[in-house]
Amino acid sequence: MRGRDILVPMPVTMDTLVSLCKRRGFIFQSSEIYGGTGSCYDYGPLGVELKQNIKRLLWRDFVQSRADMVGIDASILMHPTVWKASGHLDHFTDPMVDCRECKLRFRADDVDTLPWTHYCPATKGNKFTIPPGEPCSHCGARRTLCPDCGKGLLTAPRQFNLMFKTFMGPVEEDASVAYLRPETAQAMFVNFDNVLQSMRMKLPFGIAQAGRSFRNEITPGNFIFRTREFEQMEIEYFVNPRDTVEGRPADEYWHDRWIADCMAWFQRYGLREENLKLREHDKDELSHYSKRTVDIDYRFPIGWSELMGIANRTDFDLKQHAKFSGKSLTYFDEERKEHVVPYVVEPAMGVDRALLAFMADAYVEEEVRGEKRVVLRFHPELAPVKVAVLPLLKKRDEIVRRARAIRADLAKQWRVVYDDTAAIGRLYRRQDEVGTPYCVTVDVQTVGDSEKGEVGDGKVTIRDRDSMEQARVPIDALPAVFHDLLSGGVWAQVTARFERQIEK
Ligand code: ATP
Repeated sequence: MRGRDILVPMPVTMDTLVSLCKRRGFIFQSSEIYGGTGSCYDYGPLGVELKQNIKRLLWRDFVQSRADMVGIDASILMHPTVWKASGHLDHFTDPMVDCRECKLRFRADDVDTLPWTHYCPATKGNKFTIPPGEPCSHCGARRTLCPDCGKGLLTAPRQFNLMFKTFMGPVEEDASVAYLRPETAQAMFVNFDNVLQSMRMKLPFGIAQAGRSFRNEITPGNFIFRTREFEQMEIEYFVNPRDTVEGRPADEYWHDRWIADCMAWFQRYGLREENLKLREHDKDELSHYSKRTVDIDYRFPIGWSELMGIANRTDFDLKQHAKFSGKSLTYFDEERKEHVVPYVVEPAMGVDRALLAFMADAYVEEEVRGEKRVVLRFHPELAPVKVAVLPLLKKRDEIVRRARAIRADLAKQWRVVYDDTAAIGRLYRRQDEVGTPYCVTVDVQTVGDSEKGEVGDGKVTIRDRDSMEQARVPIDALPAVFHDLLSGGVWAQVTARFERQIEK
């Protein structure tokens, strides 16, 4: 690579990502013109493409391509007893404390992790902001009051249920209470028998669902890392607890398989190994139904945090729903001639968190010939736009006409854009910044000059985002070349038979 220095490989700051997302149409604050809605975000034109690509790849790799997986798409509103049976009504709570003065609410376990406001008696009441957990360096006091206003006493912790409550039908009464689902998982348990019977599934098999979940988080924040409305993709993988695989209980074997598969999936689409790690839940941290839970943590701009969790939930959920519904939720083991309640391994992923991780990992600032270049090095399958078609001169009708025709042709297969709103160097940088892997440039040589009687060569310049190398390719070869490049082909190999050029 020529004359390039990586300026900011990692970690990129959250502020940089937030500003890029807004400026380039990935993510906007929800209802921004009204001052915004707390911790809700809208995906813009490029954000929606990126998010759909993530979901499409998840679905393709974890559902469509596997014989042991099927999918469902269930209602967000479910029977309220679902949440009683699942334990969410009684246990899906966070302890919270309120400031008696400013009324702000905090998660009890977060209070000591926040910087705190202090009016110091040793300095005539001057106001200081003190780092989390540290005492005041003037008077030695530790935080006892509200970390935000520094004046109010905090209430004792109270349990706060994170489910959003609403009412079904015209009457707001207890009998019509409904909840927005706080996870997608329960629909897979509730539909276990429907899927088993209709699809004649044999253990082990899994049911997947991707969709919105809602949690009235007390302390949402860090951009799309923790929001009150978010998307999940969850898999419930049912196994026969009496089976063994490679000498191990089937549930333990499959738990490890899913951990490895999920890790490999994130790396396959670009997350660097050094930014990923597994975190085993300690015994006292485990949910009461979980035999073992492992999180995949990612080095987000805010530090190491959970990207997804993979839990061995045993037979807890099916047994609970059988108990509360009175329906049998078992599997008939033909070999042993007995009914069993399957164990379940649950890989649970946040789509928005995955998107944030892919953006953070792809973000690079480089210096190219003395100028800063910002690049999102997205895997081509994730990139919101696959190809940008750019005319070298927008005043030449024939160049513009040809460029538009190329865009229309390639757009039959991929998301392809046309842009003529700046000079070529600027257009390349704009595409780099949103992660477009390839550009096509149509120039005078392509179309020739009819006034001078010159015939064009019918070739265009294609440019690789990462290496910035260029090759001269016949227009009619473009679909095949992009097919190879976008399905994992290596630039140097795919373009070896074409003439190479240097970026001007
Ligand atoms: P956390 O500890 O971060 O609150 P969790 O352990 O409660 O997450 P799960 O219930 O296991 O999360 O949900 C599975 C995945 O859903 C998480 O790993 C995360 O990627 C995503 N997720 C959960 N809550 C949120 C949220 N409020 N905003 C965005 N994504 C979320």
